[in-house]
Amino acid sequence: MRKELQVAALENGTAIDHIPSDKVFDVVSLLQLDRLSNPITIGGNLESKKMGTKGIIKIANKFFEEEEINRIALVAPNVNLNIIRDYEVAEKKDVTLPDTIIDIVKCNNPKCITNNEPMKTRFHVIDKEKVELQCHYCEIKIGKENIVLK
Ligand SMILES: [Zn+2]
Repeated sequence: MRKELQVAALENGTAIDHIPSDKVFDVVSLLQLDRLSNPITIGGNLESKKMGTKGIIKIANKFFEEEEINRIALVAPNVNLNIIRDYEVAEKKDVTLPDTIIDIVKCNNPKCITNNEPMKTRFHVIDKEKVELQCHYCEIKIGKENIVLK
């Protein structure tokens, strides 16, 4: 019930709930929220029965593309994403990792061409459950805990 109340405070926009507390600012960065001029509320270290603590981000008057939303799955695969219209939850979305991730993650191999040429990185998602990526260029595998965002 309380969760519904928290997200309902937004008239129109996107509410992202159940973000792990230490991933709130990764989500801010993945969605490039610093580039928006929309009103944004960021809540961190809030009490959560399920998670201990959690973060919530609410962005007014903003509806993300599927491709943008799915980036969140890189750092926080279990968030609840609610589309709010007229103070009501109009739609709930799951975040799912795409098959390919372009120019979001840095390659961990210093010798990789993507770290030596001005070019976009490209990773294949080889395990969506465990979040494991493989560089398209040097083929190094990167596990969830070693993902570095660009
Ligand atoms: Zn690489």
